[in-house]
Amino acid sequence: MTYLNVNEVESALVVASSPPNDLFTQLIPLPHMTWEGRSVNAIKIGNATGLGRIGVYFLGGIHSREWGSSDILIFFIEQLAQAYRTNSGLTLGGKTFTAAQIQSIVNNLDIFVLPQANPDGRNFSITVDAMWRKNRRLAPTGDEGNPSCVGVDINRNYDFLWNYPVYFNSAAPIANSTNPCDYQVYIGPAAASEPETQNVVYIMERFPQIRFFIDLHSYGEDILYSWGDDDDQSTNSVMNFQNPAFNGLRGISGDTTYQEYIESCDKALAIGLANDLQSAIQAVRGRTYTIEQSLSLYPTAGTSDDYAYSRHLVDSSKSKIISYTLEWGSPANPTPFHPGYAEMQQIIQEVTAGLIEFCLGIIARHADVYIKDNADDTGSVPYSGVFWDNSDIFVRQTDDNILLSEGALRGQTNYIYVHVTNLGPAVTQDVGITLRSVRYAGTEFVYPQDWKSIDAVHIEPSAINTTFSGIPGGGTVIAKFSLSPAQVETLWNWESGGAHPCLLAEVAGCNDFGSPADVHVWDNNNLAQRNITIVTVQADTWITFPFLVGSKHNPGDTVELIFDRKGLPEEAELHLDVFNRTIYFRDIKTAAPGRGYKSIVAYEGMELIRHNRRQMMSLHEPQSKIILLKRPRTLRQVVLLLRIPGRDKPGEVYRVRVAQVNAQGLVVGGVTLEVHATKKD
Ligand SMILES: [Zn+2]
Repeated sequence: MTYLNVNEVESALVVASSPPNDLFTQLIPLPHMTWEGRSVNAIKIGNATGLGRIGVYFLGGIHSREWGSSDILIFFIEQLAQAYRTNSGLTLGGKTFTAAQIQSIVNNLDIFVLPQANPDGRNFSITVDAMWRKNRRLAPTGDEGNPSCVGVDINRNYDFLWNYPVYFNSAAPIANSTNPCDYQVYIGPAAASEPETQNVVYIMERFPQIRFFIDLHSYGEDILYSWGDDDDQSTNSVMNFQNPAFNGLRGISGDTTYQEYIESCDKALAIGLANDLQSAIQAVRGRTYTIEQSLSLYPTAGTSDDYAYSRHLVDSSKSKIISYTLEWGSPANPTPFHPGYAEMQQIIQEVTAGLIEFCLGIIARHADVYIKDNADDTGSVPYSGVFWDNSDIFVRQTDDNILLSEGALRGQTNYIYVHVTNLGPAVTQDVGITLRSVRYAGTEFVYPQDWKSIDAVHIEPSAINTTFSGIPGGGTVIAKFSLSPAQVETLWNWESGGAHPCLLAEVAGCNDFGSPADVHVWDNNNLAQRNITIVTVQADTWITFPFLVGSKHNPGDTVELIFDRKGLPEEAELHLDVFNRTIYFRDIKTAAPGRGYKSIVAYEGMELIRHNRRQMMSLHEPQSKIILLKRPRTLRQVVLLLRIPGRDKPGEVYRVRVAQVNAQGLVVGGVTLEVHATKKD
């Protein structure tokens, strides 16, 4: 036996994704063709679809001469697929996995494998120059005669401190080069300039469930975790790769002038999983791989592991990816990049065992914290009930720890509680809860924009007690925030013609990696919202309740609203004014209400009436609906009017619910008006 050639790797992927494996595998054609015109495929292994799955990404074949990475990953794919399909265990040297373990991996995880990311280079290395490392980008004009001027080092081409002369100390022993004729480490003409780099990144973009990443290289027998640019530190988050104040200082090991920030719980998780990887490798034939920080070899810039882990720090809407470089090998071998195939087969076995154990370690460490969207929410996604008016977010006028929501009182500090539950199975570590108060009664909120922004309409309540070191499986905690009198005034400006704010909470935990950044509250159990306006009403008095429908992020041109008035007394009058031109929401750009009936596509359970010489709809049925035109990516204002005729009934509570349905028939938002009856003055 010998190493697989380039075509054999690709055809092995096709076989692995064909019947009978196609019930749980899928070929992923990558969008960027290589310089020599090769197309590249990845594969997904995972026997289910849907939200809340955890993705793991294994990459190989970046460096041309490290032939064995592709062979390892093809073997991994074949062994895992066969053991899963036949419900059997797997023995690799001295390491054994049970059938149940194999089943749990494919049933719980989405595993993405790109075994041969640089086929041009690998082919050139196998057939022409065994020590070739780069891809096969054409040499710059004038340098065509020099074979070293071909190609870019893909693992120096990622968008992480790519333009290293700007970021690093000129004395740093960095192994990068801006010279296209450098035989080994030319960084390329721009960050992510190469099709091979772009294919690697594409998988992270396309599959946001990916939370773990291992890039296979050779040959030092190392398991390297973040970071590679400088020593790790977990005390000063300001000292980080994005901060230009530290440009020119990075890359000196052992000094304190610059060290790269990593959250301590991320580092603990990364080392814990590296231990799993190491122990399984060792069990196969006794080799001990060294676990250390990437920097331990030498400082680097533009590498895949640092890029993958940096993504969520650059853009908080991206999922956090715990990342590694794994250097398989045989350092004593006279040709360490190309061990004889008998030795390579031993390496293939040990690394495959390591990768399988790594997957099991992810499953064992996983915990899932969530905020209930309603009393009956068990944490599974998507949640299909009413998610906006009875969540585990509570407003209190006094700090009394009572989990019941009331209206905020103006002129004083108010309190907000967020009740968090850990579904388990593991203890969730380093749990943090964040909260936004959004200044309008909107009916479709989008993650991450509405949950992450702080601006004129997204206000951040003050944290009182919002971090927890550990919550056991099944355990709960209550996070506490306060709203200053000024914030209450800004938000609860109902009396001056606005509306009550919506509260948006998010919980995150270090080892809660099951909910990627998604779009709406119901398909991510870490998110919750409370859109409820509480007003007091006296008998026989009209109240006005304006609110906004649509979303800046919704491209549709119609919106359907469903009104539920079953919580009102039968004699109550409820009107809907969709033509009202009063500006209730200063600061918010809304589309003008449509003129006349043309903006109404259809309605049911309501009728057109005149009220105060204005045209509006009267909502007399327990449930009614209307479909309105709206401009794409724009908010539209509508107004409800309510009167409870007869005599005062102090203490009575009435409710009107409005659900917003998108063009696909999915409920995407909602708002509830809660009316507390009081006595006439
Ligand atoms: Zn390498």
